[in-house]
Amino acid sequence: MKSLTNRSKLVVNKQMTFMERIYLPVIAKGMLVTLKHFFRKSVTIRYPEVKRLFAAAYRGLHVLKKDENGAERCTACGLCALSCPAEAITMTAAERQPGEEHLYKEEKYASMYEINMLRCIFCGLCEEACPKEAIFLTNEELAPSVYDRKDLIFGKDKLVEKEHNPNGKVRGGGPLTERLYHG
Ligand code: SF4
Ligand code: SF4
Repeated sequence: MKSLTNRSKLVVNKQMTFMERIYLPVIAKGMLVTLKHFFRKSVTIRYPEVKRLFAAAYRGLHVLKKDENGAERCTACGLCALSCPAEAITMTAAERQPGEEHLYKEEKYASMYEINMLRCIFCGLCEEACPKEAIFLTNEELAPSVYDRKDLIFGKDKLVEKEHNPNGKVRGGGPLTERLYHG
């Protein structure tokens, strides 16, 4: 019967040749393709041991910066939380006590500061809103993968930088005063 589309193909029950029956030529051909890839430069990397460099504009993990004396820059003004479209930031403000000047730059500081990474969309608006250059989204690190949702609430223990580093962990890579906003 003639097909309506005229795209039907006549199937022929062709006998396989001797070379086709032993499969060796096609196995050799397949091995050759594998070997070719074996000696090629790999396009993948051994993450997380090896990490790729991100673009200067990349918005990765947040970092709460310290000043040149090692004191936290954040003054718990709440502007980052207000500007956050995902409502991912919460904090508690506290008053700096005498003798704590080396810990906190301003008279008010965040005794608790949390970012819910489950909500964060890495838009960078918190960074833009901060008047104290206290919060940045680094272009060096990604938020790590975890097995438990509660581990994605990042507190000060994960967010505050360990020591003052004007060049590190700032998007664009430059010192705070010379930073560039590419994003
Ligand atoms: S990057 Fe955007 S979504 Fe994430 S905490 Fe900052 S303002 Fe909120
Ligand atoms: S990070 Fe910046 S905007 Fe957010 S509370 Fe601290 S000083 Fe204010």
